[in-house]
Amino acid sequence: MEQTLIVIKPDGVVRGLTGEIITRFEKAGLKMVAAKMLMVTKEHASKHYPADREELWTGIGNKTLDNYKALELDAIKLLGTDDPKKIGDIVRVWLLDYIASGPVYAAVFEGPHAVELIRKICGHTLPLLSAPGTIRGDYSFDSAYLANKGQRAIKNLIHASGTLEEAKYEIPLWFGPKEIQKYKRTDENIMA
Ligand code: ADP
Ligand code: MG
Repeated sequence: MEQTLIVIKPDGVVRGLTGEIITRFEKAGLKMVAAKMLMVTKEHASKHYPADREELWTGIGNKTLDNYKALELDAIKLLGTDDPKKIGDIVRVWLLDYIASGPVYAAVFEGPHAVELIRKICGHTLPLLSAPGTIRGDYSFDSAYLANKGQRAIKNLIHASGTLEEAKYEIPLWFGPKEIQKYKRTDENIMA
């Protein structure tokens, strides 16, 4: 049994997709145990995307470089560097602006394999590469090219914890223990 955090980013909220997104997790059998709408402060955003998580920023840089290679784009021309960590650091500044740019909807979902299941339903980070049927694949065509040309974060509608370890760090950042509910879904008798 796992718990995982999702945050519908400001583009998802202003496009009126909150219900559509939540219903997909509910239909998959995942149990929503916490939820709220809020404006994220820069301080909170900075904790959610911590500057010292080197592997996160290098990973984002590498994912970006792979996509640039596939699209035959020049990282030096678009971003001024082809160093993965430096690209990650540039993206972090845009991400802090993005997540704090309007109200977000945060929730915790619980279930067997919840972290992996939610990531699968969300789809690939880059909407251009995410499969149809996924949230990002169905509702966004944003790409590293469009985003980076505009010096902004990729508008991919949703954040979801990437690993169980990430979920365990993120959930207490967004919800106090009293905000997380315990109940049984009626369909738990069938699958659990
Ligand atoms: P995910 O959200 O799928 O876990 P990451 O943790 O790798 O993806 O990246 C965090 C967020 O950073 C992404 O959801 C996206 O909004 C943004 N992002 C990633 N790469 C880029 C990029 N090259 N340019 C702009 N924004 C990016
Ligand atoms: Mg991530």
